[in-house]
Amino acid sequence: MFKLQELIRRDIDKLAMNITTEQGKTLKDAHGDVFRGLEVVEHACGMATLQMGEYVPNVSNGIDTYSIREPLGVCAGICPFNFPALIPLWMFPLAVTCGNTFVLKPSEKDPGASIMLAELAMEAGLPNGVLNIVHGTNDVVNAICDDDNIRAISFVGSNIAGMHIYARASAKGKRVQSNMGAKNHAIVLPDANMDAALNALVAAGFGAAGQRCMALSTVVFVGDSQPWENKLVERAKALKVNAGTVPDADLGPVISKQAKERIHRLIQSGVESGAKLLLDGRNIVVPGYEQGNFIGPTILSGVTADMECYKEEIFGPVFLCMKADSFEEAIDIVNRNKYGNGAAIFTTSGAAARKFQTEIEAGQVGINVPIPVPLPFFSFTGSKASFAGDLNFYGKAGVNYFTQIKTITQQWKDLAAGSGVSLAMPTSQKT
Ligand code: NAD
Repeated sequence: MFKLQELIRRDIDKLAMNITTEQGKTLKDAHGDVFRGLEVVEHACGMATLQMGEYVPNVSNGIDTYSIREPLGVCAGICPFNFPALIPLWMFPLAVTCGNTFVLKPSEKDPGASIMLAELAMEAGLPNGVLNIVHGTNDVVNAICDDDNIRAISFVGSNIAGMHIYARASAKGKRVQSNMGAKNHAIVLPDANMDAALNALVAAGFGAAGQRCMALSTVVFVGDSQPWENKLVERAKALKVNAGTVPDADLGPVISKQAKERIHRLIQSGVESGAKLLLDGRNIVVPGYEQGNFIGPTILSGVTADMECYKEEIFGPVFLCMKADSFEEAIDIVNRNKYGNGAAIFTTSGAAARKFQTEIEAGQVGINVPIPVPLPFFSFTGSKASFAGDLNFYGKAGVNYFTQIKTITQQWKDLAAGSGVSLAMPTSQKT
């Protein structure tokens, strides 16, 4: 893993260029994609201590008990399109350093970075057969779910695929961790630092063209939203939409023509159900890329919880604005949403932030932090419909996920002759 880390750093520009070319995100963002994955490789370098078991000497009568964590065997990972380097790196470095072999299925939409990472892993000395890549779509995924040799499946992607995989693989007795869709809300209180909060909303709403599972796609303004919305529009308008390779591009295209059409449809459904289109990015044309799947920053206001654009994950550069009369009402709106990946609050009140932290039902909570994805010594912690399984990705949970625990109870002493046979359940109590 030390060597892999060094090689990824050596080739980071090539990896980023591959991501931008296949996925469309800006080069700067593609570097971030690799860097956040690199953090997991660095975490895996500490596997010796992360995987340590526990030991209690002389639990009774000269008996010691200890636990060891052993590999599961063959594990598999199924990846989404939106982070072509980060998500594979969430999976295979921990899996193989825990002693497993790994079958990785990248997204069929942008498999290049996975191949490059596997080549780097081999150059770093990973033995042949430890990391394997298979390409394909539903049939290959189903074969992974059904294969008796595969013991565990890590999935990241949409709810339809994730719940299908969770059900099919669990029925076969496999361990599954499934990270799925999101609708991440920000609550903005009237006392928030306006400039900092607006910058955070714009960056987290439109970065990567909204195609991040931790994108902030919905904001709930408590109190008067008008001044906030006006300024949000001003800042969003200033963003540059262009090919990811153009140096000053802020956001690139969405992943496909189908995705573009779906996002257009959801925007239109919002308008038809009464939301106000404050900024419409649907007719954008990027010179030189007239056929590109670009959508400019789009903002809908007056959105309510019954609208399709609110209930569905849009996964595009579309920001929804909602209003609440009180902080309690805002928390209630967020908690009623079926997803629970992330949520953020913007405020200068410690008491409000603490209330938010306690009452909000989301895995990853940001306090004046828009995309609160923790470093890998913690775990990625989606909840509600955003996650299925028991053990989250990376951190301590990730190590537990990729290993099986075994407890050993041993006694090394000279047994006295003629001590007799006792058929009673052994206990540490003297009877
Ligand atoms: P997707 O579900 O379409 O595809 C993910 C993977 O599943 C791909 O490898 C694909 O080949 C496979 N797949 C798709 N449909 C399938 C089916 N019916 N049966 C079997 N396999 C199938 O997801 P996507 O569009 O690539 O990624 C976007 C989604 O991923 C969004 O919902 C986003 O929120 C989610 N995501 C979640 C996280 C997280 O950590 N919670 C992180 C990144 C992305």
